[in-house]
Order: sequence, then C-alpha cells, then structure tokens
Amino acid sequence: MIESYLLKNISGYIDGQWVEADSGKTVEVYNPANGKTLANIPFMAADETKRAIAAGQSLLDSDGVPDLETRREWLEDIRDALIDEKEEIGRILCLEHGKPWKEAQGEVEYAASFFDYFAKIIDEMKPETLPEKAKDCSWTVHKRAIGVAGLITPWNFPIGMIAKKVAPALAAGCPVVIKPATETPLTMIAMFQIMHDRVDLPKGMINLVMGSSKDIGGELMSSPDVPMISFTGSTGVGQLLVEQSKDWVKKLGLELGGNAPFIVLDDADLDSAADNLIANKFRGAGQTCVCANRIYVQKSIYEAFTDKIVEKVKALRVGDGMDEDVDVGPLINKAGFDKVHDHVKDALSKGAKLVAGKHPDELDSNKNLFYTPTVITDVTQDMKCCTDETFGPLLPIISFDTDEEAVKLGNHTEFGLAAYVFGKDEKRAHKLIAKLHFGHCGYNTGTGPAAHAPFGGMLQSGVGREGGVDGLMEYVELQTVPDGS
Ligand code: NAP
Repeated sequence: MIESYLLKNISGYIDGQWVEADSGKTVEVYNPANGKTLANIPFMAADETKRAIAAGQSLLDSDGVPDLETRREWLEDIRDALIDEKEEIGRILCLEHGKPWKEAQGEVEYAASFFDYFAKIIDEMKPETLPEKAKDCSWTVHKRAIGVAGLITPWNFPIGMIAKKVAPALAAGCPVVIKPATETPLTMIAMFQIMHDRVDLPKGMINLVMGSSKDIGGELMSSPDVPMISFTGSTGVGQLLVEQSKDWVKKLGLELGGNAPFIVLDDADLDSAADNLIANKFRGAGQTCVCANRIYVQKSIYEAFTDKIVEKVKALRVGDGMDEDVDVGPLINKAGFDKVHDHVKDALSKGAKLVAGKHPDELDSNKNLFYTPTVITDVTQDMKCCTDETFGPLLPIISFDTDEEAVKLGNHTEFGLAAYVFGKDEKRAHKLIAKLHFGHCGYNTGTGPAAHAPFGGMLQSGVGREGGVDGLMEYVELQTVPDGS
C-alpha cells in the first residue's frame, strides 16, 4: 500500500469535506510496474455526484463568483503548492501511472504552468465596453462564469490534464466537479489535499468524485446545473457525451484521440529529427495523445534516418519508473499492452519488418506490462498501426516520394490532433503544414502543447481549445449589456 503525507485521505471531496462512497464500495488502484495494490479508493456513483453538483451550485447561488483578485490568489497559491510538492506528487504519479519519476515531476511543473498562466491573464475576464455606440446605447460585454463545470480526465497525464481544465475554470469563477480516471486517481487526491491545506477556496468550489464512470458521467450529463463539460479521453466516450449533451444543449470541450503523423523531408536535419522523435514518442511509454503514431520519411533519407532511430531505440532502458536510469516505464494495463502487441503482430503478418524490439512471441501481458520499444519498417497504410492510435512504444516507419504524397498519407485519418514536419526549407515545410488537418503542428520540433497557446483537435480529435485565452473562454458565457441610460 502506498504511504504518503499527501494521501492521508484516500477519499472523495464534496463541499469541503473528505467523503466515502455511499455504498461503502471501493476499487483497487495498483502499480503497473509490479501489479501490487497501492490503495482502495471509494467507488462513487450518481448520488455523490448530485451532492457535488449541488455544492457548486449553492456556492454560485449564495455568494456568487468570488472577485477576480481572490481568484488570481487561488491560482498563484495552487501553482506554488504544486511546485513545492512536485517530488512527492511526482512519486505518487510514477507509482500509479508507471512513467519515470523525473518525467512525472516534469508533468507536475507543466500542471503548475497552467495555474501560473491563467493567474497572469485573468484580467481577460474584465468587462469590455465597445468603442462603438449604436441605437443610442453604449455596449458592454461581460464575461460571466458559465456555471458548475464537469471535468472528466484520462489516466495518461494524471495531473497535466486536470490542470488545463481546473485552472481556467477557477479563473473564470466556475465551481468544478472532477472525475479522474479510475487507474490514476491518487495524484488527483494528492492535489486536492494540497488545495484543501494551502488554498483558501470556498466550500463547494472544488469537488472530487471517483468510481462508476457511467453513473458519474450520466449524472453530470443529465443535470441542468452543469452547463459545461470538459472531457479528455477516447473518441468513443467523447461521441457518447455528444449524444448525452443534447437535452440540455450543453457546452462541450472535447480533447479526444489522435493518430499523429511525423513527416521527415529530405532536407531535414536528421539528428535533430531523430532526437525529437525519440523524445516525443517515448514520453509516457508512447501513451500520449500527441505522440507520433506514423513516421513518414522521404525515400532518399529513409535508410539513414531509420538507422539513427534504431540505434537510439535500442539504447532505451525499460523498467520501473522509480529506478533512476529508466527511460520507459510499463504500459498502464493489460488492455493497453495487448493493443500494442496486436498492432505489431498485425503489421508483421502483413509484411512489415521488425528492426528493433522483441518479437511479439517473446512478450506477454500475463507476465508483466513492460513492452520493449519497437521499430518496424516496410509499413503500409492498411496496417492497424496506421489506421488506429497504438498508444504504446511502437514506431512504424513508412517511406514516401513527394511532398504531395506526404500530405495525403498524413491526412489519411479521421483524427486531427497533432502532426510534425521536419525540413530545413521553411517555405516548403509551411506549404505542407497548411494542408495538414491537425490542430497542433510542430515544425522542426516534437514538442507538445504549452499553457499560453491554444491546443486542441480538428475532426474526430475534438472540439474547443485548452490553453491560451481561448482555453479561458471555454468556461465563459458572454453577456452583452446595451445601456440606454
Ligand atoms: P477513456 O476510456 O475515454 O477515459 C477517459 C475518462 O472518461 C476516464 O475518467 C473514464 O473513467 C471516463 N469515462 C469512461 N466512460 C465514460 C462514460 N460513459 N461517461 C463519462 N466518463 C466516462 O480514455 P482513456 O483510455 O483514459 O485515455 C486515453 C485516450 O485519451 C486516448 O485516445 C488519448 O488520445 C486521449 N487523450 C487525448 C488528449 C487530448 O488532449 N486530445 C489528451 C490525453 C489523452 P474510468 O477511468 O473510470 O473508465
């Protein structure tokens, strides 16, 4: 069992109180590196969610939204607390997710950067009187908190994903009801402990419910008191939420799946492209929505680039994320492991070549969840690793001839989250980027999003943006007041 001073309450949090499930039921959280139980968390359902929503709504009804300066202080206090506790939160994150401890601490810093950013731009919430007069009135646009926000997050960034939501929600003045992923709730509980201890938030402003996704999600979607839902996770669940949102015409922010192309043009700096690919791909053991899923390399440099990649992949050290030397941790669960396994087997059966990693016959999720980083070549578009998000440490490399072909291959997906293009000729690369239907498109970098820049998907990768002023406006309703006095 996990021991931490930030986990003295392994409980939900409603209306300023630590609470258990009404049913008394719990669900196990385990360490994917060794299968050992870390904790048993409350398995909550609709009634607890109802009370959490009511707590947020009653705060809005009684006191209204606290003023802007108070909200700025909350954000700054949360930022400072996260930075102070980054090692311990990172340790909890590493134990329940598996990613290396250092990388986990980097995720905590990333989370803190969202609180920092939204504290800095909170003045964007001030009303604006338009310069034009019309109809004998002056016109002022107020930015009102949309109301109680339901926030649902995945396991792959247990603190990064919630920070992108809760920071702008608090900046806007929205009470929140948070539902973390069942695999990784402990990081969230630790964050709540910090907010409980160190931040002067009114009761009902932040609420945490864990357990039945169907019941908690169902309650959030059917409640008229939750006008906005921000969800990060799979496209399948996102589509379900779209259906469930129609009765109350809820505002949805959806950050969904990806299938990122990584395009290397013949004039690229191959060393830099290779370094960026390795950093991008193996973060979180390849379990990130923005990580390269399909690698397209121009024919004349295909061999040289593949050789560099193979050498680097073979050097990656796989193991328990708490061991200092480890680069790549375990996959999150058996289903995640089996999906990667299936993609490799499918590709090899259709003619791909294994050039780094173990043959699938040597890997078995019943033994452990460590998947050896794998590179395959001679990949074709019909293979599962091209049509579907692998979400694991597999690099499939495909060659192309012309820039037009690279665009066509890159766009050959219903997803539109992230893409990357490497090449020295800026004009050429930007011409290509403009044709790619992806919300985030790195040029000569494999970096993911940052707090100050809007991030989100096109097509089936979602709607709305997180980060930037746009990320704040997701939690805002505009109210226009013509003043004829
Ligand atoms: P998931 O299965 O969709 O789960 C995400 C969250 O939704 C979890 O908290 C889950 O709860 C909850 N959930 C499941 N069924 C629900 C329902 N019927 N109603 C309401 N909530 C429900 O996704 P995942 O496997 O955790 O995450 C991986 C996916 O997230 C990948 O596709 C990845 O690309 C995507 N992702 C996207 C972004 C982005 O920024 N676009 C970022 C990160 C991840 P339980 O855990 O209790 O089932």
